[in-house]
Amino acid sequence: MQWTPAQMTLAQSGIVPTWIDPKVDPCTDFYAFACGGFTKTATIPPDRSSWGAIEIVVNDSEDFLHTVLDDATKAKPGDPTIDKLGAYYAACMDEAAIENAGIAPMQPLLDAVAKVTDAKTAAAAVTALHAEGVFALFAIGPQQDFSDATQVIASIDQAGLGLPDRKYYLEDKGNMKKTRTAYVAHLARLFQLLGQTEQAAKASAADAMRVETAIAKLSQDEVVRRNPHAVYHRVERAGLETKIAPSFPWGDYLAALGIPSVTAITVNDPAYYTAIAALLKSEKPAALRNYLTAAVMRDQADNLGKAWVDEAFTMRKELTGVKELPPRWRRCLRRADGDLGELLGQSYVKARFGGDAKTRAVDLTKTVLGAMRAELDNLPWMDDPTRAAAKQKLDKMAYLVGFPDKWRKYDFAIKRADFAGNVRAAGRWELARQLAKIGKPVDRFDWGMTPPTVNAYYDPTLNEIALPAGQLQPPFFGATFHPAVNFGSTGGGTIGHEMTHGFDDEGSQFDADGNLREWWSKPTRDKFTAATKCVIDQYAKYEAVPKVKLDGKLTAGENIADNGGVKLAYQAYQMWKTQQKTPPQQLIDGYTDDQLYFMAYGQSWCDKMTPEVLETRAHTNPHSPPMWRVNGVIVNQPGFGAAFKCAAGTPMNPGKQCSVW
Ligand SMILES: [Zn+2]
Repeated sequence: MQWTPAQMTLAQSGIVPTWIDPKVDPCTDFYAFACGGFTKTATIPPDRSSWGAIEIVVNDSEDFLHTVLDDATKAKPGDPTIDKLGAYYAACMDEAAIENAGIAPMQPLLDAVAKVTDAKTAAAAVTALHAEGVFALFAIGPQQDFSDATQVIASIDQAGLGLPDRKYYLEDKGNMKKTRTAYVAHLARLFQLLGQTEQAAKASAADAMRVETAIAKLSQDEVVRRNPHAVYHRVERAGLETKIAPSFPWGDYLAALGIPSVTAITVNDPAYYTAIAALLKSEKPAALRNYLTAAVMRDQADNLGKAWVDEAFTMRKELTGVKELPPRWRRCLRRADGDLGELLGQSYVKARFGGDAKTRAVDLTKTVLGAMRAELDNLPWMDDPTRAAAKQKLDKMAYLVGFPDKWRKYDFAIKRADFAGNVRAAGRWELARQLAKIGKPVDRFDWGMTPPTVNAYYDPTLNEIALPAGQLQPPFFGATFHPAVNFGSTGGGTIGHEMTHGFDDEGSQFDADGNLREWWSKPTRDKFTAATKCVIDQYAKYEAVPKVKLDGKLTAGENIADNGGVKLAYQAYQMWKTQQKTPPQQLIDGYTDDQLYFMAYGQSWCDKMTPEVLETRAHTNPHSPPMWRVNGVIVNQPGFGAAFKCAAGTPMNPGKQCSVW
């Protein structure tokens, strides 16, 4: 990556000067220094549960896509992409037509559920729901075989709970009990919308809750599920049909989903399916009907009229602290992104990711990968055979940048006056597209996120990073930014972070080709586990909100990725600087370029969140809250103390540091 030096100010460098709180000593609380100016003055919009760097980029993209969709509804017919987007968006915005349709859009699903009188008819109803993408009891999809990553097999996994995690049914930590009570009341109100009396609705809700609690007890905990061995059991179809759950009609089920001949199947936990099949027999048919009806209503509410949409919103309010429903256009835009994302994304890419943006992002990716390769030679805890295998994994790591080379076709009809029908058509098409992957060669270029998405991911079975165009935007990434800023924010926070996922507690169990196989020597693995424990213990001490601490194990992979990403991209930046004929400006409005590097990372997490969402995330989300994504990382950075001249023993430069990568 060539750099044309220019004299610049702090604002031109990509750092937002007003987000800094210059009164705070960066050695005492770096997050408060980098983001204090922002967090002290920012207010969370009433239709959001957080506001910060990410949401500012999302907001900008939504404003832009809003005009794209508005224009599409008015465009002269002829361009198939615009026609489809226009029809979908117009149908979603037509609230009168949606109101008129009443509950007709979900009536076929309710009718299927009404036929349940025993285990056999219950299985038929579950099958009918799954064929429409309503995954009660369990879910099905494609998965690369963990033992042979060249193959795509069917994967069946636990599902069907209305609360965000099994813990909410079984524990009383923090707000869990209160949320549980709110959920049962919400279910009762849904049953009332369906026409039941208040008393009958309460009984129906209690039934549904009892069945969901039984499912929660059978479900695996998310921390357990971080171990790939715990969720991979290749039992094949024969195993399901003869041993694990013979009473469930798997033949009818797979035929109804359009994959009658599938034989290669993995399940998360064989015992779960034995117990689910038993539950269908032991539970009262009326209770099963109530559970399945609740599942249908939860899934469909947002496709229906105002009363249903408002009721669905009450739970989001409870869990996230959001005050108001976002305006209809914003909700319709998000639905369009979900259902037709690669059509909508084309306009986004044209407007926001043109010129040499892709080349620059690819260059940055290569530079960070190069630094990781160099770092592997310096890691004291790694023995040579493991080091060689790690280099191989890094060399084979692929990256998708910006947007897909080939756009998805969405070859199904969209009608201008049938929103629920469009949603159903899109859901069926996507389910069929996913299930069609089974038995076919792996497609390395199928994106798991749409181009405007402000996020990124690493897929361990593909050994691949994906960086959507939405993440490669200011304030994270800018063509004219100071290189230290691009390295700190996108290089460390995004590319280095995703790359490190290939070597975190989970990703490290997959080899260069994406197979679940131990490629580490025992002594090196033991040292890695000890280093990981340091990170687990460190973050377990942090509080998300008063009295609710982070789960060190749940967040271990993300914390390892944050720490490794920032450390590696810092080294990448130092290496890059020495290679430049003309190094970049090294003093910007009094800050050194090395300081800018850390400030850019810090500011990428400037974010204000409601206490409700902070708590829900602490219970369910593998990512730490923003302030700990910054300070938890900074205290472990070898370069930070020198960059900010922090005396040893200051809060941000303590004596003890955790270091994995
Ligand atoms: Zn991550």
